[in-house]
Amino acid sequence: MLKIGLTGGIGSGKTTVAKVFELLNVPVYYADEASKRLYHTDPVLKAAMVKHFGADVYKNEQLDRAHLAQLVFNDPGKLELLNSLVHPPTLLDAEKWIASQKAPYIIKEAALLFEAGSAGQLDYIIGVAAPVHLRIKRVMDRDAISREQVQHRMNRQMDEIIKMRLCDFIIHNDEQQLVIPQVLHLHEALLKLASHLQ
Ligand code: ATP
Repeated sequence: MLKIGLTGGIGSGKTTVAKVFELLNVPVYYADEASKRLYHTDPVLKAAMVKHFGADVYKNEQLDRAHLAQLVFNDPGKLELLNSLVHPPTLLDAEKWIASQKAPYIIKEAALLFEAGSAGQLDYIIGVAAPVHLRIKRVMDRDAISREQVQHRMNRQMDEIIKMRLCDFIIHNDEQQLVIPQVLHLHEALLKLASHLQ
């Protein structure tokens, strides 16, 4: 089975592209969703969160996202610490999920695929590319937040141009080229690559 990564900058359309692959019966692992779950279900991660960020990060057994965001918002060291706590259990969870799948290929969707070190777990990586003005507008509309808030989130991610250079395939989600034909084309190519493995 081939293991494919799917990444891109904030608002590039990773999740939208992943949903199209799901329509083609390709199993998709959503790393951001998984890490949100692990904050509650992984006792080792929970204990580490309390140790490093204080018992207040959980309120009524639920991760207090607003409080955590405040703690790491303007502190790159704390953000790095947070990532170093959550990425290893998410990598492990993805590995277990991948081992349980039966398909010619699977997709792991993650915003921080390179940053979290999971690229080494994967055979090929698809990048979703979109111009920055479009990405900002999409996230402002989707999350009802300001331009500055989107830009702040973007500044914490790896540069888009570098990220796309590290990818094996690119899907252009720039509202000039249609996404679905690009996904279909890639799906056929990946099925072919997967068939060589059998
Ligand atoms: P994030 O990194 O923030 O999770 P993402 O890369 O997963 O973002 P999506 O959530 O898929 O991006 O897309 C961002 C927003 O833009 C969504 O509201 C989505 O519906 C919209 N969008 C994505 N692609 C297109 C498109 N081609 N045309 C119109 N809207 C789009």
